[in-house]
Amino acid sequence: MSRRHSRRSFMTLTGAGIAGVASWPWLGAPGVAKAQDARPKTQDADLVVLNAKVYTVDSLAPRVEAFAVKAGRFIAVGSTPEIRALIGKGTQTFDAKQMTIVPGFIDCHNHAPGTTLLYNVLVGNPYEVEFVTIASIVDKLRAKARTTPPGDWVEGYFFDDTKVKDNRQLNVHDLDQVSKDHPVVVHHRGGHTSYYNSKALEMADINKRTPNPAGGTFDRDENGELNGRVTDRARAALDRAGKRETFTPEQTLQRNRDGLAYISKQFVRYGVTSVHHQGGDLYALQQVRARGELLHRVSYEANGKVLESMIDSGISSGFGDEWIRLGATSEHAVDGSFSERTMALSIPYPGIQPPYKGNVTETQDVLNAWIERVHRAGIQVNCHANGDVAIESVLTAFERAQKLFPRADARPKITHCTLVNDDLVRRIKAVGAVPALFTSYAYYNSDKFPFYGEELMKRSMAYRTLLDAGIPAAAGSDFSPGPFDPRMAIQGMVTRTGWDGKTWGANQRISVDEALRVNTLNGAYNSHEEAIKGSITPGKLADFVVLADDVHTVDKEKIKDIQIVRTVVGGSTVYET
Ligand SMILES: [Zn+2]
Repeated sequence: MSRRHSRRSFMTLTGAGIAGVASWPWLGAPGVAKAQDARPKTQDADLVVLNAKVYTVDSLAPRVEAFAVKAGRFIAVGSTPEIRALIGKGTQTFDAKQMTIVPGFIDCHNHAPGTTLLYNVLVGNPYEVEFVTIASIVDKLRAKARTTPPGDWVEGYFFDDTKVKDNRQLNVHDLDQVSKDHPVVVHHRGGHTSYYNSKALEMADINKRTPNPAGGTFDRDENGELNGRVTDRARAALDRAGKRETFTPEQTLQRNRDGLAYISKQFVRYGVTSVHHQGGDLYALQQVRARGELLHRVSYEANGKVLESMIDSGISSGFGDEWIRLGATSEHAVDGSFSERTMALSIPYPGIQPPYKGNVTETQDVLNAWIERVHRAGIQVNCHANGDVAIESVLTAFERAQKLFPRADARPKITHCTLVNDDLVRRIKAVGAVPALFTSYAYYNSDKFPFYGEELMKRSMAYRTLLDAGIPAAAGSDFSPGPFDPRMAIQGMVTRTGWDGKTWGANQRISVDEALRVNTLNGAYNSHEEAIKGSITPGKLADFVVLADDVHTVDKEKIKDIQIVRTVVGGSTVYET
């Protein structure tokens, strides 16, 4: 086989000369075998992978040692001798030398514009557990303030209030040290709370006498003074104040393209081959693809104008192709956040005075109308619901919509679906809802679990309960709130032990095989794509990940450290170490 042929066959989908993409996918790798010319060319595989520990996530052949790929799809799985028989002229052969191979990982909930990562001030680590000091946050924002006109916003991202070395809450006084002339805000990575300086509060005309609006709070210290923390819908008043950097339409498009191309490289670095995007610039996404810089597949979850135009023009879920497809809607928020402790609970949060049950951010009537309208348009409904109160509200609205307009296999999506009980599980199963639960939280956010306590954690991120009920729970990292590393996710699902060594809700542990399924096939089911992806099955897209160690046999506390050797999408190598 010629080098030229190999390059072409592996780079057709992503284009040549892409930074960060392996320019030389398989040839020259250890264990390259000689091709045989015995079979007619039309049946020859483009690629065969031999001597691997392949976990297919396909119950018909769960464990094989080899497979073959042609035209971007798996064409056969089997033993090494069986697959060796498919080698023809021009077939590339990869001897995996007993490395582990699993289907490409699927993340069913991700805020993925990438522009924040590329262009904004990051005051926390997006990818891993890392503690920072309040002084470091102030320093980074001061540097930004020096190049920002007075009156314009200075903003910090990826703050995590339980990853602060100072062991206290960030407050308005800290942020007053950044600047008295700029409105300053630090956004919690959870996306539901922000911390402001005095200038920002003053520009928005908010003082200690300002009442809390519906669905949000202006938090106060023990003396009744504003402490700078503002939750959920109360932030709207601040959004309207002050000026932000503006960009021409061309600049915006360029930034959106660069952000998407950047985050795509991050996804495949972690073995993530399909991602459900929460909205974003659809035009930029298509341009990134046309330039050969889209390395992962996208289920695009529309909101705003795109969703309205879908409804107007009769475009329903499923429109698109294997690279960019219109999936469910973006998450329609019904309550607050798990990590920031604003989700809507049926009982008060433990240890908080006055009693607080979280924020419901949508009335039942408005939710009923929204779900009915989307459902009638043939679009897969997707609601963000964390607390039991919010999940119940979503189910009530969807049951109503199905009664008015029955539609088979609608698979209403519940993003997060964090705190369940027996009655909710029964109703989720009955309507065929597809939950996308937090993935990395069991490891990453164990420092938040004391706010809920063990009794609630036994029913939170309830993978065991949902799988036992026959509900295809899928993985939704919710990046930026949660890191999207599937290895961290699998470790947390299997152990329920956090970075701090503490275990919560051990009754919800699932097996390694179940965690693999959650992160692959169940993700495909979540977007009605289980016929084309999610497992290593002949006929499906050849998306897979080569791991240096076997996720089944490595120490469970070290699953997150397994090296990702190679990520392959549609038969093309898009990442290799
Ligand atoms: Zn989200």
